[in-house]
Amino acid sequence: MYSDKQTKWRLRNPTSNPPFGHDAIPAIIQKWEPTLGVKVAGYFLQRMKTKWGSCNHRAGNIRLNTELVKKPKDLLEYVVVHEMLHLIAPTHSEQFLALMSKHYPTWREARAELNELPSGAVVWNE
Ligand SMILES: [Zn+2]
Repeated sequence: MYSDKQTKWRLRNPTSNPPFGHDAIPAIIQKWEPTLGVKVAGYFLQRMKTKWGSCNHRAGNIRLNTELVKKPKDLLEYVVVHEMLHLIAPTHSEQFLALMSKHYPTWREARAELNELPSGAVVWNE
């Protein structure tokens, strides 16, 4: 994954200038931080072949697939919330699923919709 060409912007770096479309992400993160009670240290957008997102629990970073910005915004939001919850619960434990259902009750529908959209080879099973 790290060999992929990487683009990165710091969430709280006022000089960062993400390309069109990507500017939705900081707003989504900031909207959910107080609700979920987590702080995201930074986010990365990168091309990924097998995942829509991932998180580095220890560093507090989340990574998002660049393809996501082409998706409907509610699906982007679902993935952001999913990865943010991993900062609380690193695996797909009962705790994680309970948090997901509490904060984003329609997550199953969102996941199904995401996997139905044309996205190259990406199928998200997490
Ligand atoms: Zn996950």
